[in-house]
Amino acid sequence: MKVTDYFDKATGQTLISFEVLPPPKGGGMQAIFSVLDPLMEFKPPFIDVTYHREDFVYVERPGGYFEKISIRKRPGTVGICAAIVHRYGVDAVPHLICGGFTKEDTENALIDLNFLNINNVLALRGDARKFDGRFVPEEQGHAYALDLVKQIADMNAGRYLDENIENGERTDFCIGIAGYPEKHFEAPNMELDLEHTKAKVDAGANYIVTQMFFDNQKYFEYVQRCRDIGIQVPIVPGLKPITKEGQLNAIPRNFFIDLPHELVSSVQQAKNAEAKRQAGIEWCIAQSKELKAAGVPCLHYYTMGDAKTTRQIAEAVF
Ligand code: FAD
Repeated sequence: MKVTDYFDKATGQTLISFEVLPPPKGGGMQAIFSVLDPLMEFKPPFIDVTYHREDFVYVERPGGYFEKISIRKRPGTVGICAAIVHRYGVDAVPHLICGGFTKEDTENALIDLNFLNINNVLALRGDARKFDGRFVPEEQGHAYALDLVKQIADMNAGRYLDENIENGERTDFCIGIAGYPEKHFEAPNMELDLEHTKAKVDAGANYIVTQMFFDNQKYFEYVQRCRDIGIQVPIVPGLKPITKEGQLNAIPRNFFIDLPHELVSSVQQAKNAEAKRQAGIEWCIAQSKELKAAGVPCLHYYTMGDAKTTRQIAEAVF
């Protein structure tokens, strides 16, 4: 079923969903199942699986020279989605990115998903490879998520890259996209970022999942600004708890978001590592309860492989 159909069917009740990361190469499916098994009692209608492109590393070889090699640390997104559907009977939402994909690679990936009856995708540009420093599209690939959304919408209309294909099978993908309550870091200002988000919705995106945020006011304002410019699709808040003091610096550095002073103080003042973790969890629970009371369509948790923490939050909120 489509993600947006779940929202419609819930008639105003807030749903719960989770995002998982493929295990590092060499790991097995048990790494995913051990995160999801304890969370399935909360009945998530869908689970997101992230996509991780290759990056370059330099490896020192005998003789002191360095070899540049390309590695994909976390492959397996589509296979994991199929395994999730098979084991739990819930929908899986693969993340699909522009980075590393030509348009034809994208088309072929979408054909695989269609054949697997996976009808939801989160369409993203993807981050820059660390090696590049800025996002570099593939030759014959997409530079922005907007172009990826357009390609998926084209396939939904039966249009494939090969113009000789007549009466191509119409896929039926429900398309999610990313949104940024605190602005995407590359956008010169919020207005332009919102215009770019609106362009994705106008091109066929059916819902938005937000970047994590720790101040609900930013989410509420973001939703209002989206509505003001005519973005009417559901906007799902993405949530992640702070569990370690080091994240007070790492999260703003990696995700370009602010942490409220009250949250930072409560984590800093907690006496030991477990108390700091609990302070972060309590904050996330309070955020979740307020968002649920406001009637958001779904609370979407970034599990980061931490079932225990996610479960504690879900138990307190649902
Ligand atoms: P876009 O919508 O393309 O926007 C990127 C930037 O370009 C923005 O600043 C936007 O304002 C600007 N822009 C857009 N269109 C135009 C235009 N026509 N002209 C000029 N500027 C424009 N990354 C992964 O690699 N794998 C994942 O699985 C993954 N999952 C994610 C899940 C969520 C919920 C979120 C919020 C992010 C996720 N990301 C993931 C990170 C995401 O790929 C990055 O944030 C990336 O830098 C931007 O992706 P986007 O889809 O928002 O890009």
